[in-house]
Amino acid sequence: MTRAYIALGSNLADPVTQLGVAFDELGRLPQTRFVARSSLWRSAPVGYLDQPDFVNAVAEVETALEAETLLAHLLDIERRHGRVREFQNAPRTLDLDIALYGDDRIDTPILTVPHPRMQERAFVLLPLNELAPDIVIPGHGALRDLLPGVAGQRLEVMPG
Ligand code: AMP
Repeated sequence: MTRAYIALGSNLADPVTQLGVAFDELGRLPQTRFVARSSLWRSAPVGYLDQPDFVNAVAEVETALEAETLLAHLLDIERRHGRVREFQNAPRTLDLDIALYGDDRIDTPILTVPHPRMQERAFVLLPLNELAPDIVIPGHGALRDLLPGVAGQRLEVMPG
């Protein structure tokens, strides 16, 4: 079994519900045990700014699925949530990324792990810090050492 961390984000069509349903769907993945989820965090959009705030979270799973098989399941879940890719950084009903897959570093045409730029994104690092404060991000070092670098990003934990 491999411990994987999945980053979730949504800023359309009731994001809190989108993420709640997505957690349930992650819990039903084959050969996978849902371990924990972070709080929900509200974050300002990055890149294309004229869009609603995002709701972000990270889920921790233990899985016997290969990383690319896990990715295929995540893309299936995204499709079920009606995601349409219009342009880079566009609003989305649900985005699921493999942030970490064990200690693996993966670089194939369809999959890069650790997820590119996660080390500079508060909306991944702060939820991850709730679940795994001692984790090391392969190629980037200890999470705790990366946190000061994202301290300026606007992000707030949501109540409940
Ligand atoms: P986006 O949803 O816009 O972030 O891009 C989705 C595409 O990124 C997927 O079709 C994957 O092939 C590719 N991708 C590369 N690395 C990852 C990763 N770690 N997690 C999820 N998707 C990835």
